[in-house]
Amino acid sequence: MKNFEAITNQTYTFGNCNICDARCCDGSRGSTFSQLILSDFEVVFKNFPIVFLLGELGYLKPVVLLSNGKGFCRYIKDMKCVIYDERPSVCKLYPLSPHLDNKTYIDTTCPAVNELGNPITKEGVVQKDFFHKSLIGYQDKYIDTHNHFEQFNNKNYLEEVITINENIFYKFKEHFNDDFIKMHLNSLHHIDDYFTTT
Ligand code: SF4
Ligand code: SF4
Repeated sequence: MKNFEAITNQTYTFGNCNICDARCCDGSRGSTFSQLILSDFEVVFKNFPIVFLLGELGYLKPVVLLSNGKGFCRYIKDMKCVIYDERPSVCKLYPLSPHLDNKTYIDTTCPAVNELGNPITKEGVVQKDFFHKSLIGYQDKYIDTHNHFEQFNNKNYLEEVITINENIFYKFKEHFNDDFIKMHLNSLHHIDDYFTTT
């Protein structure tokens, strides 16, 4: 399983993915779903299901389902990502991850972290080769996403679509003429490719 730690002023290096069996793409090792922000939708809905979690306090959280929680993402072939340019930002950023607190976190279970190689961070600053625009202003993007879906946060508008590892995921019953909900609904056919629906 993953272990994300906040980066303060540390220097981390990154070795080589050749030493690893793509554990970051494996649902049995923690890559099942990931939170989305609005700007992620347009890329993600083409290849993955976008569904919703009802988080603590009843907030609606859009997430991408990366796997069925038991095996690999279906876009891994011979330990390589076959949608590399169109992979979700969570994959582009890994082993880094932005957070609501506006800090960047790093997964210290990635076997390449702190191996001999290029620096990912120097004294807390993310280096150019590992930088992604999603790392900037994540808190604002998260709040914008939250506010957007809060207007539709009504259990009568939702129904359960799939349960994975005891997490219940929801879909909207209609699109409300909202572009993001339309992309979510359009993405649901990917569930059949991966999963057994409830
Ligand atoms: S990023 Fe880390 S976990 Fe993912 S394939 Fe490379 S070494 Fe493995
Ligand atoms: S999209 Fe690519 S990088 Fe992301 S989990 Fe799937 S195979 Fe791995």
